[in-house]
Amino acid sequence: MLLFFVTLGMEKQKCTHCSSNCTKKNGSTHYGKQNYFCHACGRQFVDGGQDWFIGDEKKKIIKNLLKERLSLEGISRSCGVSITWLYNFIDEEYKQSPDDLNVVITPIEEEEYLAARFDEEIERLKKKSQIKASDTQK
Ligand SMILES: [Zn+2]
Repeated sequence: MLLFFVTLGMEKQKCTHCSSNCTKKNGSTHYGKQNYFCHACGRQFVDGGQDWFIGDEKKKIIKNLLKERLSLEGISRSCGVSITWLYNFIDEEYKQSPDDLNVVITPIEEEEYLAARFDEEIERLKKKSQIKASDTQK
């Protein structure tokens, strides 16, 4: 019975990531704050600390903002992510994109290209010789 009251008195710290009560004390941080470990999501957090976890929904918004060519500092401030995190995020996204960026370039056939240039050159020379011929007729 005593144990029951003791455990009641010990309020479990809620996880800042997933709000689970399935947590345990996990040493202290470098700055002396109590550190916790969450059994539910496997993340660590500090008592009263800010949740630095950036969810998929936020990442999606940040991705769209990056496409709008906004300043990185602006995205960092408005989305509440650090500039270092943003740089790493861009780096990861860049690594995941294909080398050709899904651009399909159909090269012009060399022979076809040369034939077209050759025809143009013949036309140019024909015109040139016609001009010369009309000049000498005068
Ligand atoms: Zn958790």
